[in-house]
Amino acid sequence: MNNHVTVLEIDGKALEHNLNYFKKKLHPNTKTLAVVKAFGYGSDGVQVASFLQDKVDYFAVAYTHEGVALREAGIETPILVLHPQVQNFDQLVANRLEPSIYSFKTLTAFLAYADEALLMNYPVHLKFNTGLNRLGLWHNDIPLILSKLQESKHVKVESIFSHLAASEDHDEKEFTINQINNFAYIVKKIYEHLGYEPMIHILNTSGIVNYPQAQFDMVRLGIGLYGFGNDEKETSQLKNTHVLKSVISQIHMIEPGETVGYNRAFVSKGFSKTATIPIGHADGISRRLGNEKGYVTLHGQKAPIIGNVCMDMIMIDITKIDCKEGDEVYIFKNQQDILHMAEEAETISYEILTAISQRVKRILTS
Ligand SMILES: *Cc1c(COP(=O)(O)O)cnc(C)c1O
Repeated sequence: MNNHVTVLEIDGKALEHNLNYFKKKLHPNTKTLAVVKAFGYGSDGVQVASFLQDKVDYFAVAYTHEGVALREAGIETPILVLHPQVQNFDQLVANRLEPSIYSFKTLTAFLAYADEALLMNYPVHLKFNTGLNRLGLWHNDIPLILSKLQESKHVKVESIFSHLAASEDHDEKEFTINQINNFAYIVKKIYEHLGYEPMIHILNTSGIVNYPQAQFDMVRLGIGLYGFGNDEKETSQLKNTHVLKSVISQIHMIEPGETVGYNRAFVSKGFSKTATIPIGHADGISRRLGNEKGYVTLHGQKAPIIGNVCMDMIMIDITKIDCKEGDEVYIFKNQQDILHMAEEAETISYEILTAISQRVKRILTS
């Protein structure tokens, strides 16, 4: 059992608050898909999905094995696999996971598989590229795709979807509207010839905020669920879901001129007091946060990370903080802490959350 003192607490009440915040922006009939890829944005995909299973209509994961983990935990909700690989089709189907068909190659491969496995009306999702140029079927291939689908009773298109490239960026409004219009055109073409009308969806979190008119049948909620909106004002209305905490392992009294950590990166100007915390770059604390770029919080006060971040530890300056060994330390407690880390590490909140390594114990509180 992992009795590590460094713990990531996942706040179930905050997840629910955030889900409801976005649901209020949607029509009552719009379905919600919760994106729980990458361990639920670095939290715990299984615990988050277990907690949300009766509150959302769909889950999405990136890879097949992530979906298998949800099924093994007894989750029955439909699960969309955004990036399935041909070699995992057996596992995918055995676990009733629904593939995103993102290329003509994956379409033919899955149809051949479905034929061989004698599947009937197996749910698949057609993903179209409308400008992100990452994964997606090409609109020029619509006639080919349709003829393939019309030949087959093995699959049923459950949904048609696309992904926006810059839904958070107000300077890219024209581009985004164009993506939405192209998507609507693709859907129209397919609806005309397929013989039935699958669900359609294109919005991620910032899409829900900026383009609610394009919510169609379902939205795919990721980062918003975990407490981050498009801007500070919106984020302040969301609740933080990830709380990363640890304890002081040891305190040192440092003389003037002494140094702390590898390569003697911190040189003490006067008498100072430092604390060593059992979390390091192997746990997802970027080395860029060393040398007073990052901070942790203890007894309500901020203590800078001094010297270089080690693999398993950081040292902090607690000269002015009344504390003792064993005291609790927050690596981050709220969105401001996470956003500060992201800025200092020259990245975005998504990466700070997903970087928290599997060595850190997860606890969901609800
Ligand atoms: C990750 C992902 C999302 C969620 O995006 P957020 O910005 O986190 O809401 C939605 N759709 C697809 C295809 C994704 O890959």
